[in-house]
Amino acid sequence: MKVLVLNVGSSSVKFVLIETSVEAIDNENEQKLGRGLVDKIGIANATVKFTAPGKAPYVSTPPVWDHAAAIKQVITVITDPEHGVIKDPSEIDAVGHRIVHGGEYFAQSVVIDDNVAEKITECFELAPLHNPHNLKGYQLMKEFMPYVPHVAVFDTSFHQTMPRHAFLYALPYSTYQKYKVRRYGFHGTSHRYMVYSLEKHFAKKSRCDFKAITVHLGNGCSITAIDKGNSVDTSMGFTPLEGLIMGTRCGDIDPALVLYLMAQEEISLNEMNTMMNKYSGLAGLSGFSNDVRELSEEMMKGNERAELALRAFAYRVRKYIGSYMAALDGADYIAFTGGIGENSVLVREMVMENLDRLGIVFDRERNANVPSGGGEISAEGSPVRVFAIPTDEELVIARDTVRCIAASKNKPCP
Ligand code: ADP
Repeated sequence: MKVLVLNVGSSSVKFVLIETSVEAIDNENEQKLGRGLVDKIGIANATVKFTAPGKAPYVSTPPVWDHAAAIKQVITVITDPEHGVIKDPSEIDAVGHRIVHGGEYFAQSVVIDDNVAEKITECFELAPLHNPHNLKGYQLMKEFMPYVPHVAVFDTSFHQTMPRHAFLYALPYSTYQKYKVRRYGFHGTSHRYMVYSLEKHFAKKSRCDFKAITVHLGNGCSITAIDKGNSVDTSMGFTPLEGLIMGTRCGDIDPALVLYLMAQEEISLNEMNTMMNKYSGLAGLSGFSNDVRELSEEMMKGNERAELALRAFAYRVRKYIGSYMAALDGADYIAFTGGIGENSVLVREMVMENLDRLGIVFDRERNANVPSGGGEISAEGSPVRVFAIPTDEELVIARDTVRCIAASKNKPCP
């Protein structure tokens, strides 16, 4: 069957068409037919891009006023006679939607019906920048494809296995009861893919038999402690702002700083929010970039602020690895992923060197020569084995979509 995977954000729509089935999942025989992006929705220079194996890439700059126009562009491009991959939208058998927040309602992916859509709406206040757009994507796509199943795959659901002592903040308990204030965690599809990949390809061992720390380092960054395949703690919290230093987000800070800086700078709640989310992290520390490639190049040229930003970034990851080693009572595997985790030899080295006393014996040579499909970066015989592994969140969404449909309508996935 053909599954359209849709990731609708505030100003972009990312989409991938995947040919898959229950058997194809078992044999890892799924095929990505094409992937595209509608970017800068509602902005003058919107772009539509699509690439499919064996076809010339498609790029156009039509006006894309709103999300409805963006979804129309998705349909237009995948059915384009020259660049597209299907003749008619009726060839699509199901749609898998990335939904950022499922609150405490969804511990698994689910076929969307009115009740599910209502619960996603109830989570708007927990993810005001994401859930409304995610749901809008579903509503718009449903107009084109009313008769096929639409499945919601949540960023938060993988972390619903966290125990209460890990997900509660030490605030008055009433804040949890009244406002659902707690750690939710995000990037769940990526951390889940790491468990799958370790089990199937790298550890080659049942997930029931290992403990792991998965480290997703992209523009957003998070780290998860995993026991028997379940998330038992994760660094992102009530929002994706908590935890590691990120491209433009500050991660952990003293909460009293928010009050102090608002008073000192005489800024509003919104401005403080923008400072922590858009002007902090690698960009804030370096003063010029959130891009690890650029920062690494500058550091090599002797730029001290670039080096400081990267060292602070790596040090935070190291601290979390240490604390999750304690939380798990030791880990068997550590898996790096995301644009930085998969590709930055320098950052992985800064994080992993000289951790021998934790049982992590790093191998510089291996770290510098990771094959494109992923590989080990720890030395032969290292008690904790460390890998760099490419993530595939779209594949997880497509697989969940297939499984949810197979498990019959409106029941959670097996
Ligand atoms: P997103 O979270 O938006 O999906 P990505 O996972 O693509 O982001 O990660 C983006 C980050 O990955 C950027 O900081 C970028 O510099 C870094 N990155 C991508 N490729 C490389 C590379 N070859 N070497 C070092 N860093 C890289």
